[in-house]
Amino acid sequence: MAVFQNRFLKESITSRNYFRYSLFLRSLFGENVGKVSVDGGFTCPNRDGKKGVGGCIYCDVYGSGTEKKIEIERQIEDQLEKRKNKYNKFLLYFQSFSNTYDAPERLLKKYEIIKKYDEFVGLIIGTRADCIDEEKLRIIDSFTDEYFVQIEYGLQTLDEKIRKWSNRCETLKDFEDAIFLTKIFPKIFIGTHIILGLPGEKNNYHLRLADYLNKLKIDGVKIHNLYIPKTSRLAKYYEEKTFGIISMDEFVELTVQFLKTLSNNIVIMRIGGTTSNQNLIAPKWALDKNKILVSVQHQIRQ
Ligand code: SF4
Repeated sequence: MAVFQNRFLKESITSRNYFRYSLFLRSLFGENVGKVSVDGGFTCPNRDGKKGVGGCIYCDVYGSGTEKKIEIERQIEDQLEKRKNKYNKFLLYFQSFSNTYDAPERLLKKYEIIKKYDEFVGLIIGTRADCIDEEKLRIIDSFTDEYFVQIEYGLQTLDEKIRKWSNRCETLKDFEDAIFLTKIFPKIFIGTHIILGLPGEKNNYHLRLADYLNKLKIDGVKIHNLYIPKTSRLAKYYEEKTFGIISMDEFVELTVQFLKTLSNNIVIMRIGGTTSNQNLIAPKWALDKNKILVSVQHQIRQ
């Protein structure tokens, strides 16, 4: 997206050493915008048996989806009501599970709900790379005349062995094919999710990952730490002590090195991630999001 060439953005990036999503959104909309996250009632091919069963081992039933089957409009209205004092403009985020995993006409019907609410200025769709095709992208692209449109593909790791261990049931080629296909629609902002600190990462893996995203010219990235939700399959492996979790200092160090290698044109959409305190087994440091951000900002200037 050409908006990255804006002078205000460039100056802000240089002074902070990485390109924050909040800043990117302010530059697009002239003010801070809120996010309304909804469960669109989708599932995932890695949960329903088409690709796999049980999902990725880190899949968090609460974090990835509520599975409560609440009408989308009601979810939207509840959140708008709570947050309308803070923001004038909002992004509608289809977040739970794989939000392009359905027939094109049903996808369109769900995405079109955005048009019922004047508050929305953008549409965000989180999905798996193996759940997209040209027809679905055409539908998503049809919203770009009126809205900022972002699609997020989970990558998590480059390492095929770790992908297998985590039961991702999707290849790196699936991911790359989805990125190249999406690039046919240049108005769509392409984001991805990665995890830093997965077991088995070695030999400056995180720097290779940054280089990989630079080469793909991805638009944005969410940097997650590995966390163990009680509701995930990972919880069992963790309790059996088959792997360990990195410390906050280690995560900060990996993140800073990753950011220093990543292109300044790539927007950092998130650093760190967790589930609710009640659902979190480890690491408890992940709950202190502010401390993680402050540590990253402090170290990146050194
Ligand atoms: S792709 Fe996403 S929604 Fe599907 S099982 Fe993996 S983490 Fe869960």
